[in-house]
Amino acid sequence: MLNRRKFLEKAAAAGILSFVPGLLKANPLKNISLKKKGLPVVISTWNHGIEANAAAIRIFEAGGSVVDAVEKAVMVTESDPENTSVGIGGYPDRDGFVTLDASIMGPDGNAGSVCFLQEIEHPVSVARLVMKKTPHVMLAGEGALQFALENGFEKKNLLTPESEKAWKSWLKKSNYDPVINWENEPNKYHDTIGLLAVDKNSNIGGACTTSGLAFKMHGRVGDSPIIGAGLYVDNEVGGATATGVGELVMKTLGSFLVVELMRNGRTPNEACKEAVLRIVKKDPENVKRQVGFIAVNKNGETGAFSLQKGFNYALFQNGENRMIDSESYYN
Ligand code: ASP
Repeated sequence: MLNRRKFLEKAAAAGILSFVPGLLKANPLKNISLKKKGLPVVISTWNHGIEANAAAIRIFEAGGSVVDAVEKAVMVTESDPENTSVGIGGYPDRDGFVTLDASIMGPDGNAGSVCFLQEIEHPVSVARLVMKKTPHVMLAGEGALQFALENGFEKKNLLTPESEKAWKSWLKKSNYDPVINWENEPNKYHDTIGLLAVDKNSNIGGACTTSGLAFKMHGRVGDSPIIGAGLYVDNEVGGATATGVGELVMKTLGSFLVVELMRNGRTPNEACKEAVLRIVKKDPENVKRQVGFIAVNKNGETGAFSLQKGFNYALFQNGENRMIDSESYYN
């Protein structure tokens, strides 16, 4: 049976709705372009996104679901010991503990997340299990670890010698001052990976995983595991994810805002830009920090915007996997 939205889309495509103003008004998705870009599409934050996107595509080719694709994709980044802001090798907090945050959302609107999780290489997989096996959305700290261990995850030391060395060197001054775009520095500092995928049937999934800001206070949790802040997916509209100083994203519920703006007719690019402008307006003291959003809508149109220049993202579409420099508020 044709559901109401499908009917509205088909009717709009056929030009029928212009004769039915009441119907058009009632359709919140009216301004979303009905022209589909190449699907599947995968979009993810920073240089490390290229490999993650490729992993997602392999999962699609093997017949995996969009949730399989986003999970397995970011697991690649979590397992890279040279990546100092996700999973193993992530820089520790100011007390020397590597603490991880991750979230995942699927096209059914379900969500799972973990925060302040230690000694587990794949927090995104624990988040997926929280989504699948529990009546909850988020598990934190010791409870998240206990749940992971009960479900077969094994403890692992995530503090690599290189990260320990960086922490010890930081301790000399102990100055907490997140550096803009450290993610893409040539010495292989990287950042959070947020990744969104739309499968060939327009089903949307997203995942976000991080060790958070380096040398943060012990116990600090960022935006990445907060559904609506670091990640949000609505299968009727699209998805968004964030990177950068999580406090700014949390205070504006950035990813949810981007999706809601797309629902109201903004393109992914316009929506990301407006979410950045919201930060500029609400948090003027902090605009020297970096925040970047990426977004995709149900038709595979993508966009991004950041506060500072230097943010880039990986886009797989129409058989091509490439890096794109984001537009930014400051140039
Ligand atoms: N958003 C992450 C956090 O605040 C870190 C980052 O993306 O740089 O924990």
